[in-house]
Amino acid sequence: MEQEQFVTCIVDNQSHPITDGRLLRELDPAVRNLVKGEFPDAKVTDFICDHHLLKYQLLRVDGLINSDVKQTNKINRRLTKAMQSDDYDIIDVNDTLNKSLTFGQRVSDSVARFGGSWGFILIFVFVLIAWMLVNGLSLFGIHFDSYPFILLNLALSCIAAIQAPIIMMSQNRAADRDRMNSENDYHVNLKSEHELRILHAKLDNLTQNQIPHTLEIQKLEIEILGQIRSELDSLQRNQNS
Ligand SMILES: [Zn+2]
Repeated sequence: MEQEQFVTCIVDNQSHPITDGRLLRELDPAVRNLVKGEFPDAKVTDFICDHHLLKYQLLRVDGLINSDVKQTNKINRRLTKAMQSDDYDIIDVNDTLNKSLTFGQRVSDSVARFGGSWGFILIFVFVLIAWMLVNGLSLFGIHFDSYPFILLNLALSCIAAIQAPIIMMSQNRAADRDRMNSENDYHVNLKSEHELRILHAKLDNLTQNQIPHTLEIQKLEIEILGQIRSELDSLQRNQNS
């Protein structure tokens, strides 16, 4: 049988075979720092037995989980705050405009709608031609506005003069609608951007902290499993001898 080397555990100064534990320099830096926190004089060549090492490994796992939970809670609080702080109510533009519409505005809207249609143009052309034909050729004995149709000119000027401000009124309302729409859009965008930023922080936390921590915890688990196995082995050896 090979000669086993014995070393003393830094925690309780008991003698152990060197296979029953590890030197501090073989430990994970974070676990080593935990040991060094309790034993400031410890050197990297000192030995710690598996039994005592387990405590520091579990402490490290605890620390990792706690810091993850803390960070996640912090981000969730930010998200909740951001959701609550938004006190802007999205305006239903059509509903608001329709409710505040006066009778005159309603009329101007329908006049502008009719004035900008093919129906209006066709009717207008028909009326013009009929007027000129009736008066020019004295059809049915009617000729209240003979060539060059001065009364028709006056009527056209009046229609144009009235139509312009009516269309402008309607356009003002369209501008109002656009302004309200863009105000809505602005607030929705602002809120989305804010939430997106927090979501980014959440994702960053997941990839930069939580996943590496999970991997480290897995590594510690595997180490602890290895220690259990070697303890089982030594138990078996003791039974056999
Ligand atoms: Zn020990």
